[in-house]
Amino acid sequence: MNYEYSEAFAQKMDQEDTLRSYRDHFLFPKINGVEAIYFCGNSLGLQPKSVTNYLTKELGNWGEMAVDGHFDGEDAWLYVRQKSKPALAEILGAHTHEVVAMNNLTVNLHLLMVSFYRPTKDRYKIIIEAGAFPSDQYMLESQVKWHGLNPEEVIVELKPRKGEHILRTEDILAEIQRQGDSLAMVNMAGLQYYTGQLFDMKAITTAAHGVGAVAGFDLAHAAGNAPLSLHDWEVDFATWCSYKYMNSGPGNVSGIYIHEKYADRPDLPRFAGWWGHDEQQRFQMEKGFVPMHGADGWQLANSNILGLAAHQASLDIFQTAGISNLRSKSEKLTGYLEYLIREINGDSGVLEIITPENPAERGCQLSLLIHQGGKAVFDEFYKNGVVGDWRNPNVIRLAPTPLYNSFLDVFRFAQILEQSLKKFA
Ligand SMILES: *Cc1c(COP(=O)(O)O)cnc(C)c1O
Repeated sequence: MNYEYSEAFAQKMDQEDTLRSYRDHFLFPKINGVEAIYFCGNSLGLQPKSVTNYLTKELGNWGEMAVDGHFDGEDAWLYVRQKSKPALAEILGAHTHEVVAMNNLTVNLHLLMVSFYRPTKDRYKIIIEAGAFPSDQYMLESQVKWHGLNPEEVIVELKPRKGEHILRTEDILAEIQRQGDSLAMVNMAGLQYYTGQLFDMKAITTAAHGVGAVAGFDLAHAAGNAPLSLHDWEVDFATWCSYKYMNSGPGNVSGIYIHEKYADRPDLPRFAGWWGHDEQQRFQMEKGFVPMHGADGWQLANSNILGLAAHQASLDIFQTAGISNLRSKSEKLTGYLEYLIREINGDSGVLEIITPENPAERGCQLSLLIHQGGKAVFDEFYKNGVVGDWRNPNVIRLAPTPLYNSFLDVFRFAQILEQSLKKFA
């Protein structure tokens, strides 16, 4: 792609963008009364305008039918889990029976450990990337301790080579080989929140299986952002959240994926609840848990209907936009941001992009180290209408998303970046 640092070029790209109308489906925050350039969908996705209607409809169902809403009408709450499955299956690259929306992300991580982390005297190690999202670190440490084991002896953290910022796939695979028979599980991010690196989940899963271990991924930053084929890659399990790239609202529902090979494994240990029990018999209120087929058998509690309504508003947008269209725009949009940052930075050495250059190894996010000016530069962005994300000590994360960001957003950001660097760096 031949990019140009000009407004006319950005406008031309927007005109050619078949997804450009989707921007109007979202509400943008304002900074000093002006619509922001929002590059923070990696943290909280924007609100689809349609959410209000979806919520109003469920409020109406509740108001008009009360308890009968569980069973009556086209939205019968008892079957709500089925609505989100087609879109989730597309986003995750899975079969519908392999996915279900439920709980919140960290809760789901714990539940998945119950089934998939079964340490024995000889096989007990867990591989994770160093610097994983804190909730994942706390989750793993507490799980390991709960098994009576020592996190220091169990958790193997993968660190980049000296002087490098991202992990090399060959090094991840070599570590899996090195742990061999002692490895119980690989449990990494699919896309690393700090560096923006998209891991080769297929190769990692194959290697884990090769030594007799399972592989599961936290897809908080991958779901709705990067192409996923969990089923074909034979990933054992995964979970994600819906409020980042999936635009479903703060703290909204997570979801799980469980590979089909576990679909009818009632023997697999799990924490059970009535919502995972055979749907036909659920209201007979009898003893004896019979798990539902597939991921549904991991549900515990009845669903948060209002949360799921907001989730559905967003999923319906994903389905009409099309996952592959979104990815193809995303590669260009992030490529444009990368090009402009490099143009502005020149050989000054002030900015250093640590996210992989290869589009196949990243989603829409770019993470930059800022070597001069630091937080003052970032604060200047904000004053000029850019919502990005700062991580100490000196990382700026920018996520132009294909659903609601334009090439003009990226161009305008570049101008602000140039000005801010002149002032503070
Ligand atoms: C956002 C994020 C979380 C947040 O967990 P919640 O349970 O949704 O609060 C956890 N892990 C990763 C990797 C994340 O990116």
